[in-house]
Amino acid sequence: MFRVTLDGMIAVYLVVIMCALFFAWVAAEIFRRGRENRRRKHFVICGICDHVFEDLSDDDLAECPHCGAMNERERVTEI
Ligand SMILES: [Zn+2]
Repeated sequence: MFRVTLDGMIAVYLVVIMCALFFAWVAAEIFRRGRENRRRKHFVICGICDHVFEDLSDDDLAECPHCGAMNERERVTEI
């Protein structure tokens, strides 16, 4: 049997809690980015009239409901 001091127990307890919080944060961030990417996949910005619309189909070209122009899907990049 080994002796455990109160300081050691508190340190181990804090490390375990911090690791759990870190992994929960990483998992939440991964899920949030996945949801955001799925949501952005359906948003299209028209190259002719700058109208932002949602197209739920998986076609490569999306028709703008405002001006009727066909738009290619592009990956939206964050600034
Ligand atoms: Zn348009």
